[in-house]
Amino acid sequence: MGRAFEDLGQGVYLLDAHYGHPGVAAFYAVVEGDAVAFVETGVSSSLQQALALLVALDMTPEQVRYVMPTHVHLDHAGGAGTMMQAFPNAQLVVHPRGARHLIDPSKLIAGTRAVYGDEAFDRLYGEIPPVPETRVIAADDGQVFDLNGRPLQTLDTPGHAYHHYCLVDAHSRGIFTGDTFGLSYPQIRDRAGRRVVIPTTTPVHFDPQALNASVARLMALDPQRLYLTHYGPLDAPADHVDDYLAWIDRFVAITEDCAPVEDDRIDDLAEALGQALAEACGFDRAALDWLRMDLKLNAQGLAHWYRHRDG
Ligand SMILES: [Zn+2]
Repeated sequence: MGRAFEDLGQGVYLLDAHYGHPGVAAFYAVVEGDAVAFVETGVSSSLQQALALLVALDMTPEQVRYVMPTHVHLDHAGGAGTMMQAFPNAQLVVHPRGARHLIDPSKLIAGTRAVYGDEAFDRLYGEIPPVPETRVIAADDGQVFDLNGRPLQTLDTPGHAYHHYCLVDAHSRGIFTGDTFGLSYPQIRDRAGRRVVIPTTTPVHFDPQALNASVARLMALDPQRLYLTHYGPLDAPADHVDDYLAWIDRFVAITEDCAPVEDDRIDDLAEALGQALAEACGFDRAALDWLRMDLKLNAQGLAHWYRHRDG
């Protein structure tokens, strides 16, 4: 975990954003010839890892062509402004519904402070500079970005957030999935030793039907590998998709059982989600502790979804 980056092959590098702790949030570099794209940004301090990779590859900040956060939650896009300052030739590729929030991050900052609290916000995110509008590309669904001849294609994938795209890298037969294919930490395994893919239903745009449709859209491309932000590459996603979709249904059902979930009962819902995972997968206390923040965010997002589900 201590390494600055990991070479995943085919010009794809995994970097650790050090989002609170190592192993929580990844970001990626795609390198093709003398050009680089960063997919996700981590947080502002994650720039250090990005610069260390460029040094290790004997490349310069001027060679970064694209900065591509999948959506504007701050563990994915919080470092966008800092990266754009450091990479003078880069363009920021962002979902059309997220673009204005990186050009003027004040609402994003306020909304994130409301979810996390001020102390955690300052500790996790630090400064978030705005990005000049002239350097922002609001990417259409299916838009192809040419990285030195290597196509990177955005796919509109609402469900986790309505400002979410996934990025298809045909060269590696991989897809950068952001939070659309949930989260799966390599050390979190079920009784059979298999990785477990858990939905991420963060407030405030979780939409289970849209998420199901977006996952179907990804799988229709028959990817060999998904590059998860939380955390790292997941091979053979077809072996995991049914269980993942079942967990989305299960989380929704648990929420309906607990409803209505007032703010003072969020922890009870988080506990119920954790218990369901623990029973089904054999998670021990260490696994549940690792997932605690995710489960709390999931509970907040599910409660919000339930309250607003018909309108
Ligand atoms: Zn997210």
